[in-house]
Amino acid sequence: MSQTDDFETRVVHAGFEPDRESGAVVPPIQLSTTFKQDRVGGLRGGYDYARTDNPTRRLLEATMADLEGGTFGIAYASGMAATQNVLYLLEPGDRIVMSDDVYGGTWRLAARVWRRYGIEPVPVDLRDLDALATALAPDANGRAPRMVWIETPTNPLLKIVDISAAVRLAAASGAMTVVDNTFATPYLQRPLELGADIVVHSATKYLGGHSDVVGGLLVTRRDDLAERLHYHQNAAGAVPSPFDCWLILRGLRTLALRMERASANAALLAGWLAQRPEVARVHYPGRPDHPQRELVERQMRLPGAMVSFEVADGAGGAARATAFAAATRLFILAESLGAVESLIEVPASMTHQSVTDTPLAVPPGLVRLSVGIESADDLVADLDAAFAASTSVRA
Ligand SMILES: *Cc1c(COP(=O)(O)O)cnc(C)c1O
Repeated sequence: MSQTDDFETRVVHAGFEPDRESGAVVPPIQLSTTFKQDRVGGLRGGYDYARTDNPTRRLLEATMADLEGGTFGIAYASGMAATQNVLYLLEPGDRIVMSDDVYGGTWRLAARVWRRYGIEPVPVDLRDLDALATALAPDANGRAPRMVWIETPTNPLLKIVDISAAVRLAAASGAMTVVDNTFATPYLQRPLELGADIVVHSATKYLGGHSDVVGGLLVTRRDDLAERLHYHQNAAGAVPSPFDCWLILRGLRTLALRMERASANAALLAGWLAQRPEVARVHYPGRPDHPQRELVERQMRLPGAMVSFEVADGAGGAARATAFAAATRLFILAESLGAVESLIEVPASMTHQSVTDTPLAVPPGLVRLSVGIESADDLVADLDAAFAASTSVRA
């Protein structure tokens, strides 16, 4: 296995060679919390204590660094723990420009927690590069924002941000660029290759891929950032267990296949939804009428497997959306996304409840689908039956 192999090959083999002694083709789960020293300070594999570093986590970190085209992977107990560790790079008084459509939990952390420590989040529609340039201007004290936090595609409206263009603007004003790559995964989009400084993942979603592990990762190419991130990973200690690392590694091996199939299903469903009289608007980066079609083609290998749609305009949509989401059989009504099974949810009253009455509020009639790898025909039939069962609900 080498860096010149294709992604589909690296995703299967990266990070591990069959074990020299046993021939095992799958890595062991190393549970030991401490490691024997041959003399004081004489570590055998560089390990002394499992929070600091351990063999199973190191495999996951190396694999993710490889897949994102980075040099360092750093694993955490959740996507939010990874996000919190990016914050440790900032100082009181710093401002951080964020996608105005950012993951609800990221906004909650920034608005309710980071603010108490003197870090100010500035929500901006990052599709608008003039708005980004304006937000990057120095304040009255001559201080420009220190960081730009991008999510693309955004959640749940699937807006696309031009990573290269945003990186150029950020770098010109001395800001770091962080990209939450959870929705796209490195199979569809590699922000570090476009100049971003740090990639963030909720491994709970597509990387794990089976709704059975919570985890997070950061990846970077910058030695200076990696050194500080490793310091805080150990100091703050929000690390994943070896078993969780192993589950994420196991899920990762099928990432390319899962993304291909789920994206194909999503494209088909988005086209089908667009024809339905009950649907006012479909949000999907692969639609010919997506306003950023050209950018999607330039930046992403495939448009991904998240689809959202509005059942009706205005406040009346809420009742229709909730009735529809309760009427599916295969699409499971649940938060989260990115696994083999298809999920459905109503962002305004579920994942995005924490942003009600903020600049990040979402349309009340919006339904979000995380499309899985089932038969597309069965998924269409399921949505069809749910429309039939729920359209008597008046908007
Ligand atoms: C889920 C999610 C997170 C948070 O990750 P957890 O693993 O739930 O802590 C962050 N960003 C995005 C885009 C997500 O979907």
